[in-house]
Amino acid sequence: MSNIATLAKSEVRTQPVYEPGKPIEDVARELGLDPDGIIKLASNENPLGSSPRALAAAQRALTEVELYPDGGCFGLRAKLAEKWQLSPTQFIIGNGSNEIIELLGHAFLRPGDEVVMGNPAFVVYKLVTLLFGAKPVEVPLVNHKHNLEALAAAVTPRTRMVFVPSPNNPTGTANTEAELLAFARAMPEHVITVFDEAYAEYLDTPPDLRPLIAEGRNVIGLRTFSKIYGLAGLRVGYGYAGGELAALLNRVRQPFNVNAVAQAAAVAALDDSEFITRCRTENAAGLRQLETGLRNQGVEFVPSVANFILLRVSDGARVFGEMQKQGLIVRPMRAYGLPEWIRVTVGTSDQNERFLALLADLAE
Ligand SMILES: *Cc1c(COP(=O)(O)O)cnc(C)c1O
Repeated sequence: MSNIATLAKSEVRTQPVYEPGKPIEDVARELGLDPDGIIKLASNENPLGSSPRALAAAQRALTEVELYPDGGCFGLRAKLAEKWQLSPTQFIIGNGSNEIIELLGHAFLRPGDEVVMGNPAFVVYKLVTLLFGAKPVEVPLVNHKHNLEALAAAVTPRTRMVFVPSPNNPTGTANTEAELLAFARAMPEHVITVFDEAYAEYLDTPPDLRPLIAEGRNVIGLRTFSKIYGLAGLRVGYGYAGGELAALLNRVRQPFNVNAVAQAAAVAALDDSEFITRCRTENAAGLRQLETGLRNQGVEFVPSVANFILLRVSDGARVFGEMQKQGLIVRPMRAYGLPEWIRVTVGTSDQNERFLALLADLAE
């Protein structure tokens, strides 16, 4: 009998496994806790829930799920085109923006290609790079921030793609618009610059990267409905780019990659600026609350402009485990090469207080 693993591609056999934040139900079952009492601040989800308009639209869409969704996401792309003042042909809609990262791999990565990325940064960049047999070239952050000059210096004739997340996950740091524009303008033509803007809506003034598209550069901006829009469970995100790049990505996706409920919710969420503004305001207050609390406890942290904070606790796995026993789920950072650190999502003010109290208890 053959061992099935030997039949798999070598990239698949050696592919590292992504460790997601633990779902509330799993933790409740494992520890015999009441799921209703568990707080999850592990995956940067929205503590204020979802846009009520999006939920209403999702419910309406549920009455027609015997039909296939609109494979071209016509309504959502039209809405995005209006919001961004771009053409509908300049968008690619994905099953989460993670899918778009994978589509970039499908379309552009060959074995031996190099992909430049910061470290620590979102692990999916590395996973997708490895999956296509390409080589991750990791550039250490400087003071927890992407040093774009160092990133540019790592580009070679073999580089096919470079990931520039701002704000970055897990550090919560951002680069300025001027830095980002200058970086993309300095890239040679054989490199695709991928701006991951999963947390851009939390910024007071997100950088405007559209001039790069107007100039015809090989860039794509990635956005998601999983964070400030509060729709992580529906899986929908998008990329905006030049029309040719968007067309190539649309060619490699599955015909019905985004479900009808997610499309309807996303369209409605884009119209709910009231909800988004409230989330941004509450998040800013939560960041201040957490940062003040951490400062008072003498805990080292990285000042954040996103909806989470990276903090140093000496033994991240221990603090994660102890907090989980108390019904609070945070994210240990060993997988990011930061065993002394944890990442906590900004919660409601009650949740933030509970986190700070548990942290103080553990320090005693
Ligand atoms: C959460 C996150 C995403 C979004 O992923 P989805 O697939 O859209 O849920 C993308 N990039 C980064 C850096 C993230 O933290």
